[in-house]
Parts: sequence; C-alpha cells; structure tokens
Amino acid sequence: MSSRLRASLRACMFTCLAATVWLAAAEPARAGGRHKVPDLRSAPSTTRGPTQGVMLVPLTIHVASNLETRAQTLHRVRVAVARANRALEPYGFRVVVHKVWIMPGGYDTVTRRRDHRRLAEYASIDGTVHVFMVDRLELGSRLSGDRGVRGMHWRYRGLRKRFANRQYVVVNGDAPATTLVHELGHLFGLEHAYAHSNLMCSCRRGPRQVFTLGQGMIMRREARKFFRANLRSGTR
Ligand SMILES: [Zn+2]
Repeated sequence: MSSRLRASLRACMFTCLAATVWLAAAEPARAGGRHKVPDLRSAPSTTRGPTQGVMLVPLTIHVASNLETRAQTLHRVRVAVARANRALEPYGFRVVVHKVWIMPGGYDTVTRRRDHRRLAEYASIDGTVHVFMVDRLELGSRLSGDRGVRGMHWRYRGLRKRFANRQYVVVNGDAPATTLVHELGHLFGLEHAYAHSNLMCSCRRGPRQVFTLGQGMIMRREARKFFRANLRSGTR
C-alpha cells in the first residue's frame, strides 16, 4: 500500500473505517423524499459552530434505515448522542441533534464506492456534522476484501470544488453506542489508540471508555478548524 493511500485510510478492524474517497461522478440530490422528524430536535437553528466556551457540535441525522428498523434507529441515535456527550463534555463539547431527516428508500445499504458517493450528495456544507444511520455498512475495498464495519468517517479529497470539505459519518445498524463518538473523534483529528480504556481503540468494550486530555485538546483544535472551514464554504 502506498504511503498516500495508507495515510488516507484509517482502517478500524470491524468497528470503523475512515476513508478518502475520490468522487468520480456526482448524482443530483433528491430532497423530496426527506421529512423532518421534530421530536429528536434539541437545538435551535442558530446553535451551530464553536463558541468560546462550550463548543456546540450540531448533528444532521440522516435516517437511511428501512421502515422496519426506523424506530430502533431513532432510539439508537438518542443513546449514541447521550454517550457522545458523556465522553466529550469534559473537553468542552456539547453534541446536539440539529435535524433529523428520513431519507428516501435505497440508501439503507452502503457497500460500494458509489453508495458513499450518493451519501455525499446529502452531506452539504451547512455548519453541521452529517451522520447517516444505515442498516448495512461494509468495506468494499479490494485491498481488504468485503467485510462489515460498524462505522466510518468519510471525507472528500478530490478536486471538485462542489465537494470540497465534504465529510460525514456513517453508523451501521449493529453498532454499539460508542461508535458515533469514536467516529466524531476521527472527524476531529484523532487516530486510533490501543488502550482498552480509550474510545479510539477498536478493541473498546463496555461503558467506561474515555478520551485522554491530549485527545481532548486535539479535538478542540481540529473541531475549530472543521467548523471554520464548514462555515466559510457554506451554502446555507
Ligand atoms: Zn476508528
């Protein structure tokens, strides 16, 4: 594997993949099939981006799960956000659900590169972190073979201006409550750790995993960069 490819892939054994994906073709976004679900919304539209004290992390939740698993998915979102706040509040973050969108059919399975490209169409630059809840997420890389993963952080590094700075998080249907905050860690600049007590370890088990102070400082710094870039190139 080349050093460039190695640098662009954060393979997470059975738990996550953060990948750089080159977007070869764009498909138009279809907004008509999405409907807002207001009961999960816990933040007004003005609460986005970092503040001097508490840094708000507004999430746009895209529910791509099929109808049978949707209620369970919404429950999992609540649990995962609570878990994220428990881990991130010591470092001055506050994760809030800004919007919940029910996506049209056909997005519940993410196994191919083009599936990721299709999701990118919905990850607009709007000052929020886009999270896609799917039923099935697999790593389709020829390098590693097909295998299930529980979450991934995807970002675009291609040359197309319309996709500049686009990145998002995908969470699989069987992911534990820690997957969302683990992927937010990647989004905010963290690599994997190897201590079982650390949330950035693929080996993490149980409810007691945490971030270290050093990781918290990195996340604060990188989150500021993320939201600055997100707002600067926003189209809202
Ligand atoms: Zn990971």
